[in-house]
Amino acid sequence: MGIERRTLLKVAGLILAGFTIKPAIDVLSKVDLPDPLPTPGPFANKRWAMAVDLKKCWSLEGCKDCIEACHRIHNVPDFGHPKEEIKWIFQAPFQTVFPEHEHEFMEEGAPEKPVMLLCNQCDSPPCIRYCPTKATWRREDGIVMMDFHRCIGCRYCMAGCPYGSRSFNWRDPRPFIKKPNLEFPTRTRGVVEKCNFCEERLAQGLLPACVEACKEKGLIFGNLKDPKSEIRKALQNRFILQRQPELGTKPKVYYIL
Ligand code: SF4
Repeated sequence: MGIERRTLLKVAGLILAGFTIKPAIDVLSKVDLPDPLPTPGPFANKRWAMAVDLKKCWSLEGCKDCIEACHRIHNVPDFGHPKEEIKWIFQAPFQTVFPEHEHEFMEEGAPEKPVMLLCNQCDSPPCIRYCPTKATWRREDGIVMMDFHRCIGCRYCMAGCPYGSRSFNWRDPRPFIKKPNLEFPTRTRGVVEKCNFCEERLAQGLLPACVEACKEKGLIFGNLKDPKSEIRKALQNRFILQRQPELGTKPKVYYIL
């Protein structure tokens, strides 16, 4: 508890009443002052991020191993219709994702090549500001979390996300999960969902499922706060793109060109 107004008034009263400063200090010494340094939580000193090496990603045409691994372990339903698609990892052509970087001298076919997309785990995520029930929040290690039970399906977070990284279950998703993973929760109709950077796997010391599934090692994941991490090295030595950095959301998914 901090110093309450009542305590300060008491100290002022003592001084005004002609007491020396000593009794005033005695009163203050009984005040329960806050800890000057907060105890580090389990997520301190971590800032998770991912880099997608586009050249490696494009080297295996048509590969969707990362998407399949992610959607399998997270019980992502397949409604069989693009309008209802639930997207934890999804793809869009380079020219749509990075129109400002498309030019006439690019490698042939590059503008149409698919870019892997997911929640950017933004440092300043607009999505969480719109949620009226606090069903989505940002953890100290940067992961933007979702509590499926708290979600009331208002979809304000979807409107707030400029990257289309959130999806809504218009129908009960359970009949549309091919092989349910009993270790991860399923969702219900009327709930929003998105990529969680595999926080449940990180807690066990494992890499995200997509990173593990990528045969080309085109996905680099790690802790930005560790200067020796693979991700820090990748971001230092290569040309990096981010999705719409001008929005000020500070995405933590990077694209290596
Ligand atoms: Fe939120 Fe969208 Fe940023 Fe993910 S990409 S943290 S859903 S604003």
